[in-house]
Amino acid sequence: MPTSRHPNADVRMRGFVEKTSVEAARNWLRSELNKFGLFASEETPLPNAATRILAVDIVSEVNVPEFERAMMDGFAVRALDVEGASPTNPVSLEVLGDAFPGQPFDGEVTAGKCVRTMTGSPLPAGVDAVLPLEQTRTDGNRVLAQQSIDKGRNVGSIGEDIRSGEVVLRAGRALRPQDLGLLSSIGVGSVTVVRRPRVRIIVTGNELLPAGSKPQSYRIVDANGPMRAALVQRDGGEPLFPGIVPDDREAILHALSDDAEIVLVSGGTSVGQEDLVPTLLAERGELAIHGIAMRPASPIGMGQLEGRLVFLLPGNPVACLCGYDVFAGTAVRVRGGRTANWPYRAVRATMAVDLKSPVGRFEYIRVLLTEAQVSPVPKSGASVLSSTTRADGFVIIPAECRGLEAGNEVEVFLYD
Ligand code: AMP
Ligand code: MG
Repeated sequence: MPTSRHPNADVRMRGFVEKTSVEAARNWLRSELNKFGLFASEETPLPNAATRILAVDIVSEVNVPEFERAMMDGFAVRALDVEGASPTNPVSLEVLGDAFPGQPFDGEVTAGKCVRTMTGSPLPAGVDAVLPLEQTRTDGNRVLAQQSIDKGRNVGSIGEDIRSGEVVLRAGRALRPQDLGLLSSIGVGSVTVVRRPRVRIIVTGNELLPAGSKPQSYRIVDANGPMRAALVQRDGGEPLFPGIVPDDREAILHALSDDAEIVLVSGGTSVGQEDLVPTLLAERGELAIHGIAMRPASPIGMGQLEGRLVFLLPGNPVACLCGYDVFAGTAVRVRGGRTANWPYRAVRATMAVDLKSPVGRFEYIRVLLTEAQVSPVPKSGASVLSSTTRADGFVIIPAECRGLEAGNEVEVFLYD
């Protein structure tokens, strides 16, 4: 006797009596995600930290730079000495020596003297400006200054980039390449980041051959496994994808019980005779939602098993992609410390044609975008995965909407 907590858990060969709205399903997911406490974190070496989410604020313990530095190649001078200098009335200065980055000039510069200085060199004592090379002429071991200069020009001050004690990056930041550069410059070699959620990818279907095979008559090659692994990676999760699971109770149960924070099943989640997963989840955990008023991807299920969020995604690849994007992707991003927002860039454009949609159904339409005109891709069933590779992006028709009309301005989410 199943201990189902879902009234319609076994919908096999009967069909969904009632479908949950996308909004209600998203609310369920949001409240489940809110139940998790603090993010687990881990230390990672800086070279591996790009795109990771910082778990703590980073406070600089140093000034950058720690010394006054020359910002140009030229001559470190006392501004007072070169007052009034011009090409016709140059000021002659004695060159005491050189300063290089990491190799300061050792000594004090007094009136009428200067030091040849390269960009990044510590500023010698006694000077207050760097006259660029282009504004000078050499004259034996002396130099002729052909311009006057303001005090402080071409001199970088202590801490002008970063001040000791300053918060340079805040917790929650998705680390950019330049962030790694900055962290390195303040002496940080490893950072505490939010641990990537482990996402178990289960592919079910006796008809499936593993990625890398050639299709063989009635047997098709798994598209959803590689696609979801890439989606999970994009969203900051760690995909665990050991291979295909047959449509078999024990095999599916074993896969569901694996150690991961999020489980994504594809295939076997609908109302067919071999669609075992919803019943299994209802028996062993909770099947909170099954059947959603959307197209594609209506046979989606969501629930949990021993603290893991479980998403049952349809086997049809377009529906699998859509179901991932509308629900599962949110969980991967949020559990990894990211925002729930879609990672797609959105642009506004105009509908070129009418698109009808029944009230009550959320639709995910693959579209072409030509000169800011939007039209649906031709041949676009849930099993036609090329509809997503030919498309520039997708538009959403919300449930409450009867469709879109030619001339309507819409938001297009770009796949790139
Ligand atoms: P199901 O959700 O198991 O009813 O499958 C719906 C359709 O998607 C069937 O035509 C399956 O053969 C196909 N399908 C299921 N899983 C995959 C997969 N991983 N890759 C490509 N097609 C699939
Ligand atoms: Mg199947």
